[in-house]
Amino acid sequence: MAKSDKSIADPIPKDLFDILACPLCRADLEYSENKDSLVCSDCGTKYPIEDNVPILLTPKDRKRFVKNRNLQ
Ligand SMILES: [Zn+2]
Repeated sequence: MAKSDKSIADPIPKDLFDILACPLCRADLEYSENKDSLVCSDCGTKYPIEDNVPILLTPKDRKRFVKNRNLQ
């Protein structure tokens, strides 16, 4: 795969990125400035990218998710 000249490579493959949408309002997502998260172009909700995997959980769901994960 060809690397772009950008200083930070896109962490998510473009075909995957193209089908991603905000779980709250279904708008397109954009990379944050340092590409460590995705930001909804409509409602502005931020979704972190962990190990090149976007965590598309609403802030409320994420709290529950993190809590469950910490129990393991
Ligand atoms: Zn949204």
